[in-house]
Amino acid sequence: MQSKLPDHGATIFTVMSDLAKRHNALNMSQGFPNYDPPQELRAALAEAALESHHQYAPMSGLDILREQISGKLQRFYQVDADPDTEITVTPGATEAIYCAITATVRNGDEVIVFDPCYDSYEPAILLAGGSPRHIAMQPPEFSIDWDQVGAAINGRTRMIIVNTPHNPSGAVLSHEDMLALEALVAEREIYVLSDEVYEHLVFDGRQHRSVLQYPRLRERSFATFSFGKTYHITGWKTGYCVAPPSLTNELRKVHQFVNYVAVTPIQQALARFMISQPEFPASLAGFYQEKRDLFCALLSGSRFSLSPAQGAYFQLLDYSEITAEPDTEFATRLTREAGIASIPVSIFCAAPPGGRYLRFCFAKSTEFLKQGAEILCRI
Ligand code: PMP
Ligand code: GLN
Repeated sequence: MQSKLPDHGATIFTVMSDLAKRHNALNMSQGFPNYDPPQELRAALAEAALESHHQYAPMSGLDILREQISGKLQRFYQVDADPDTEITVTPGATEAIYCAITATVRNGDEVIVFDPCYDSYEPAILLAGGSPRHIAMQPPEFSIDWDQVGAAINGRTRMIIVNTPHNPSGAVLSHEDMLALEALVAEREIYVLSDEVYEHLVFDGRQHRSVLQYPRLRERSFATFSFGKTYHITGWKTGYCVAPPSLTNELRKVHQFVNYVAVTPIQQALARFMISQPEFPASLAGFYQEKRDLFCALLSGSRFSLSPAQGAYFQLLDYSEITAEPDTEFATRLTREAGIASIPVSIFCAAPPGGRYLRFCFAKSTEFLKQGAEILCRI
């Protein structure tokens, strides 16, 4: 059979996590915490399982959870979103991203993506019959040149996908970036998919800017979020999409045939926790900044160089002082020989990135970060 995704194999997260397991290496590759979610949230899931929450939820998500999400958007961003017509709970942000792209992109359409680009966007664009138009972010800050974006827009451009805070670089879009994006798409039939799964992980006093806060972006955007990042529950695979009613309507048409619904007891548990701990997400910036600072400080004696991540839970390390090996080879060798696994950044790029970078996930305990840094300092 001729593959519909001939250039894609297993994702780099699967490849590196498997390699780490095989070589018993410290796994700083795939992004997930090595600590548990709050006890109260775990108890809420246990309670929901012992009560009667075992059948299909409504297709768009439990009412009680969509109401909590709406309240949260108001509390954190002063954004109004109607739980019935603008919020859809999905089994992970990945499904929301897939559905938003599938609902919008047609055969022959172009979608602008920024490299390094999260790995799920391109396959979804290709399966919808579209073609990705890759624009490189500029290292070491991984900023976006909006003039270049303006020059890339043409009659076939249907969507622009942004990700802030950015995986893998940690770059955070500023107010000026949002205004530049808004100016480019206003008056055009271009939709925006804004992947904001790391919304609460922003450091050094920076503020997360959501497309939902900019009226001319709000009217044409799908904003996707993940409970996985906010509550340390990547394995619960639950997220949501916020979009205006007409876009939500189209997104739901796809969602109902991809997964139909998200998992009921998980939605119930999340709603209860959000009611009881509405300010929990506000603690994350400090919590993760401490981890970033510790990891970066411990690496000060190493031969890697770095600029501290602005957001998300990944730190890029520049290894150009150590070797001229391609990043995929170096990452594999480090896993096998040094016992530490990371993600090679070139995997997320159509053209080689302007630098030699590996990505390390710092959503780890202090002990784990110390062990990782100790290995890296020996290289
Ligand atoms: N977008 C980005 C940028 C991510 O890093 C991730 C990863 N975990 C996702 C989307 C997917 O989130 P989820 O696990 O909720 O599907
Ligand atoms: N988003 C996670 C990362 O960037 C991985 C998610 C996955 O394995 N699909 O590491």
